[in-house]
Amino acid sequence: MVEDGCMRIALSLLVAALFVSPAMSQTPPASVPNVAPWDQPFLPPAPEWNGASRALLRPVSDPWVTPFEADADHDFSPSYADTRAWFDRLDAASDLIRIEQFGTSPEGRPIYAVIASKDFTSEGATLDPAKPVLLAQAGIHPGEIDGNDAGMMLLRDIAFNGKDGLLERANLILIPILSVDGHERAGAYSRPNQRGPRIQGWRHTATNQNLNRDYLKLDQAEMQAVRGLILKYDPALYVDIHVTDGIDYQYDVTYGFNGEDGAYSRSPAISAWLDGTLKPAMNAALEGQGHIPGELVFAIDDRDPKSGLGDGGLGERYSNGWGSAAHVPTILIENHSLKPHEQRVLGTYIFLEEAMRLLADKGADLTAAIAADRALRPAEIPANFEADDQSTSTRPFKGILYETFDSPASGRSELRWLGRPDPELWQVPFFASHPTLTLTRPRAYWVPGYRTDIIERLRLHGVMMEPLDAPRTVTVDMLRLDDPVVSARTNEAHVPITVTKVTPERRDWTWPTGSVRVSTDQPLGDVVVLLLEPRSSESFFAWGMFPEVLNRVEYIEAYAIAPLAEKMLAADPALKAEFEAKLAADPAFAADGDARLGWFYERTPFYDDRYRLYPVGREN
Ligand SMILES: [Zn+2]
Repeated sequence: MVEDGCMRIALSLLVAALFVSPAMSQTPPASVPNVAPWDQPFLPPAPEWNGASRALLRPVSDPWVTPFEADADHDFSPSYADTRAWFDRLDAASDLIRIEQFGTSPEGRPIYAVIASKDFTSEGATLDPAKPVLLAQAGIHPGEIDGNDAGMMLLRDIAFNGKDGLLERANLILIPILSVDGHERAGAYSRPNQRGPRIQGWRHTATNQNLNRDYLKLDQAEMQAVRGLILKYDPALYVDIHVTDGIDYQYDVTYGFNGEDGAYSRSPAISAWLDGTLKPAMNAALEGQGHIPGELVFAIDDRDPKSGLGDGGLGERYSNGWGSAAHVPTILIENHSLKPHEQRVLGTYIFLEEAMRLLADKGADLTAAIAADRALRPAEIPANFEADDQSTSTRPFKGILYETFDSPASGRSELRWLGRPDPELWQVPFFASHPTLTLTRPRAYWVPGYRTDIIERLRLHGVMMEPLDAPRTVTVDMLRLDDPVVSARTNEAHVPITVTKVTPERRDWTWPTGSVRVSTDQPLGDVVVLLLEPRSSESFFAWGMFPEVLNRVEYIEAYAIAPLAEKMLAADPALKAEFEAKLAADPAFAADGDARLGWFYERTPFYDDRYRLYPVGREN
């Protein structure tokens, strides 16, 4: 949403004056903060909830109480330093717990994971590769931090409260806070649509990046680090934990994955396991503890919630889209923003505990599904998914009652959620996604050695490459970009460039030393195609990383091309006919002397051959 800066400051001062004591600090306190409970009278009420999972909460008298539990309102999540101090204490006290730093943030903070395992029999012992790993990731979006508080409780209960049995046949890796810099840009006014915790991090990083758009381009230190961690431990299940925005509904824990309900998947066997094995068991576990699990869906129109639901797109820049393309089973949790922090945290705990049980009991089937999907080499790769224009099905939906009112502020009718479950089950039109492009899989790509940045990103992805130690001439298709358009808006620190038409030109092309051949005959072959085909909306090109090819170099003076053009017309009747037809059909062209001369220049060998020629070759 675009916001007016001055309005926003004025509003925040007003809110501060109305609801918060003047002593309140923007800095997260070192312990449980002495500030007024988070109270947003402008948010709709939440339905009463008293789930059985509340029994998981430990009393303040417990020496291993978490900062979340110690807070009287269970509406608090600790700072980076306090989280780390708590986990350091746990690591020191338990042989099952080990902390591993796997990256450093742009502001210099260590990014770490907390690993729970029974494989740590000696110093330096590593995880048994035969045991499936659950990787739970919290705080890719700071403020959406439920996974940290749930993870602390679960790891504590594994260490001390009898839940170590979860580690018999599976291992657990928790990233308590991925976006550590954003987590530390904390305050009471970060997430206006979210019911707690009352001090929240900021959704973007110190460099103003949204990390859940970076899974394919891998710009950011945090995402490069997490990619390395995933390559190292090869988790059987990766759970990326968020909190929603958007409409109200009854569900407290919603989650999803690409290929749900039989939709298209780049990892069909994995999707079938998630759909058929995980989902029924997970929903039963959550419901058994008083939670209300739902599918990950997004309203087509937040102001008209019954008009339709969509899957939010299947793009690979998001965790779940990337996981499907990379054949890493990936679930995106979106806990519901209007449910209290306590309810969301406890639901996340149940989710993670049940996921550990499922990996122990059914992990072998999942491992087989991963292997099957990693062996796939589809000849055609659908890409550039967009929401359908028409709905072809409906979804049952547990809605919340609402009414509308005339707003003096907006001057129109606005929606007011009433916080009471609608006793009638809604039936809402569902809008699926469809590919708008089908890419064909070449045998390999060739990336020129001077693009060390692109080669490095491919390496970070774990893509296998064959580097040249001497120049080599290879017959390849080079792609001429016919209709590139530079975006008028920046996106994630890039200026996107789209191209919808390309013309392959067969060439004998000499690749300099350091160039790489990137075979698509590898488990990450689909990712390679999505990254290197310029028409792919997830490609390096689409993010604007090859702007240099849009610069045409050299030109020809009018006094040189005009007489040359006369000779061309005299020597080539077909060219003459084509020129005359163009003059007749295009009056603007006919009236533009430079354009007319340019038309001839393009047809001479003097014209810049590399103009709009994408520098990555396709080997077919
Ligand atoms: Zn999020």
